[in-house]
Amino acid sequence: MQSPPNRARGRRRVLKEPRNEVEEVRQRERAFVTIKKLYCQALPLWRVCGRGFCRRNKRCCGEAEACLKRGWKLFPAAVQERACNEVGRGGPRRVPPQTALEKRLRRYPPSNFVL
Ligand SMILES: [Zn+2]
Repeated sequence: MQSPPNRARGRRRVLKEPRNEVEEVRQRERAFVTIKKLYCQALPLWRVCGRGFCRRNKRCCGEAEACLKRGWKLFPAAVQERACNEVGRGGPRRVPPQTALEKRLRRYPPSNFVL
């Protein structure tokens, strides 16, 4: 199959809404995974991680979700808030949201993703 020409380049991307419930559930699951990863990137999680592996690599990898759960509450509120804003902007690499749902979910309180 040929991919369509990229007309969206340089233009504001219009994010599609899910067509049905199944698709919505799938998009939601994917968005949660992505947003958790963004939180991992937005926080210096490895500093508070109990795993030597993460500290040595200066990055929480593999078990990132467990690391996030463990580490989140160890950061001061100001750092948490900064991370939250950073996630809204797509993390340090400014990754655009994949779906309209993800765009909305990024604005949700961090307790949805870090606990
Ligand atoms: Zn870790």
